[in-house]
Amino acid sequence: AVRVRYAPSPTGYPHVGGIRTALYNWLFARHHGGKFILRLEDTDRSRSTEESARAMLEGLRWVGLDWDEGPDVGGPYGPYRQTERRELYQRYASRLVEAGRAYPCYCTPEELKARRQEALERGEAPKYDRRCLHLTDAERRRLEAEGRPKALRFRMDDAGETVVQDLVRGEVRFENTLLDDFVIIKSDGLPTYNFAVVVDDLEMRITHVIRGDEHLSNTPRQVQVYRALGAEPPAFAHLSILLAPDRSKLSKRHGAQSVDAFRERGYLPEAIVNYLALLGWGYDAEQQIFTVEELIDKFSLARVSKNPAIFDIQKLEWMNGYYLRRLSLEELAARARPFLERAGLTALIEREAEMGERRLMRALELSQSRLRTLADVSEWVRYYFEETVDYDERAARKHLLRAGVPELLERIAGGLEGIEPFDESTLEAYFTALRDETGLKMGDVLQPVRVAVTGKDVSPGMFEVLALVGKGAAARRLRQAAA
Ligand code: GLU
Repeated sequence: AVRVRYAPSPTGYPHVGGIRTALYNWLFARHHGGKFILRLEDTDRSRSTEESARAMLEGLRWVGLDWDEGPDVGGPYGPYRQTERRELYQRYASRLVEAGRAYPCYCTPEELKARRQEALERGEAPKYDRRCLHLTDAERRRLEAEGRPKALRFRMDDAGETVVQDLVRGEVRFENTLLDDFVIIKSDGLPTYNFAVVVDDLEMRITHVIRGDEHLSNTPRQVQVYRALGAEPPAFAHLSILLAPDRSKLSKRHGAQSVDAFRERGYLPEAIVNYLALLGWGYDAEQQIFTVEELIDKFSLARVSKNPAIFDIQKLEWMNGYYLRRLSLEELAARARPFLERAGLTALIEREAEMGERRLMRALELSQSRLRTLADVSEWVRYYFEETVDYDERAARKHLLRAGVPELLERIAGGLEGIEPFDESTLEAYFTALRDETGLKMGDVLQPVRVAVTGKDVSPGMFEVLALVGKGAAARRLRQAAA
């Protein structure tokens, strides 16, 4: 049975690249009816934090991923945090020492650095020189007696190649002599990544390792550890990196950052999932929109691309708009509430009680097709509730300061006061008549009205907006703008 894992190091925020890796693992597990495991790789104690660990779990949950085993839910192969598994690594390390595949190293960081420097000056590739592999028993005893800190190193094969059959990249070959005897247990007793990951993937019965490309170069080391332990490595699939549209390394500058930031900015998890699924995987050339069920059904590693995927915030925004349009009004309102609250609109809406709710729903209905993020909502809703409008400066200059506009707005204010009932069809009739009388174009009549009433030069249809704003407020704002 398929068992896959996502193994973040809790050293920062959950960024989109990591979430994509988690998503692909999750889709693969769900597609095959297998298990998805979450493991925290927190052995770098200076950089790991509890806050980051919490954020990692939270980020995954927010996009809708769930795990069958993990630090919070437990499972048969726990604990699921590497710092709680130290004895296990020690046990495996001892096995390697007994088999002659690991040995203690007493070299200090300063010594290693100096010898690396010397190698570079001789024009050699710097690599651990195996000094401690060749210690005599007497030398080793002396170093022990000195109380020197000691690490354990893995003894790599001296010759040949390590071949990795990668499910995405195909066959990748590594020259063993280019890889050095890496540290598996640090002097503080904690394992290094390359060792702990093998022990854990073995112990947790992982069948497929799906992870970022940056770990491809670690894979031959890990494969050698598996073999030294007498075990078969799992299957590997390395996912291409994410790039910005200009093909540079993806960073905050490109609008790509932590999933928390996307949440704050009003992106829907369903849009993020759909979008990330397509960053390196595709079903066919056409289909862009996938439900989660479809993704589970159609996902396969065979269709994962080895080319770098381009993270394009514009496309994500488009997709977010798509998912926003598909929400029911009730759902849209529920999701928009925290954003309305943040914009200070909640109290204004509640002040009008049931009427405020009805007006909010209608405002959402009028703007839903134009939303790109939930954070946009407040700008489309604010003028139905706020006493005075803030003019967009450019729009005001363009539409309110034109000759004849103040007189026109005065006239309309008076006209609106006489309209009964004040609804969309009577408003349309009024403005059509006004257009015919004045010989102005409808746009030249309605744009100043729009800016006066909403503060903006873009809004839903003006008759709908006016009807919802109401006669009194509309007339007042028109007079204000005319003054
Ligand atoms: N802790 C590693 C990382 O965050 C996991 C690598 C792996 O999946 O093997 O990059």
